[in-house]
Amino acid sequence: MKIIVLSRKEELYSTRRLVESIRSLGHEAEVLNYLHCFITIERDAPQLLYKEDILLDDMDAVIPRIGATYTSFGCAILRQMEMMNIFTANSSQAIIHSRDKLRAHQILVANGIQMPSTGFARSIHEVDFLVEKMGGYPIVLKLLEGTHGNGVVLVENRKQARSTLDAFYSLKTQILLQEFIPEARNSDIRVLVVGNKVIAGVKRSAAPGEFRSNLHKGGEAMEVELTEQQKEMAIRATQSLQLHVAGVDMLESNRGPLIIEVNSSPGLQGIEKATKLDIAHQIIQFTTNQVNSQR
Ligand code: ADP
Ligand code: MG
Repeated sequence: MKIIVLSRKEELYSTRRLVESIRSLGHEAEVLNYLHCFITIERDAPQLLYKEDILLDDMDAVIPRIGATYTSFGCAILRQMEMMNIFTANSSQAIIHSRDKLRAHQILVANGIQMPSTGFARSIHEVDFLVEKMGGYPIVLKLLEGTHGNGVVLVENRKQARSTLDAFYSLKTQILLQEFIPEARNSDIRVLVVGNKVIAGVKRSAAPGEFRSNLHKGGEAMEVELTEQQKEMAIRATQSLQLHVAGVDMLESNRGPLIIEVNSSPGLQGIEKATKLDIAHQIIQFTTNQVNSQR
């Protein structure tokens, strides 16, 4: 099989590991930088081009690793591949839904998945009402398309909320307001799901003085034994967003696990190092099984 890793850089850990796994399973691997891809849209002849070469229809599957900054463009390229009947580990539509925190929350809630109380407003005037409904301060503000912990802000009181929201709104950004979960103690659980199965789980703890446990913010990952409830929730969240490969983030609260995010391009470095598991292999194995069963 020929399997494409849609990624900006070959040297990135996850990209490198996926390529290694494709080759170790005896398949052909190619990294395509989606930023250098373009498409022609013509009746009967939709084409995908890469640096002026027409990409032939010899690709069997694609593993999308589209960066958050390029979701829209990257997913347009991926959609073209879908139209060429190339199997994708995650669909463009599912990636777009999971990247928009508001939309993802709406879909998850509609599927009965527990999450922190969350609100969305465009004006400072509505915020008092939302905060009261969430049980008061502190609250967390989140940029709709933030990632790696960037754009996630802890706000302790109304004074801070007003000035922070003024800044966000004047930049014309959209934000979510969310109940802060103190009992999570600056840590979260990342569950790796591949094709309806839980593959790995780690607990990520924030660096001293930080509440965001993202590894990009200096957080540390440690392998954990997941509860049945955590596993079941992670699978349900992944399925609700119609993803096949996902990193599901949850907070441990007094009322059980609460999902905060479902990541469609989960980083492999932290979780492979912490668990010593070959997660890239699992992703490729799943992909080739899917291609074979669809034939
Ligand atoms: P990002 O997409 O930037 O990773 P997240 O929603 O996953 O955004 O939040 C980043 C981190 O902030 C989480 O991993 C968690 O440690 C912390 N965090 C997020 N939401 C809450 C919350 N409601 N209560 C407590 N901590 C939170
Ligand atoms: Mg996160």
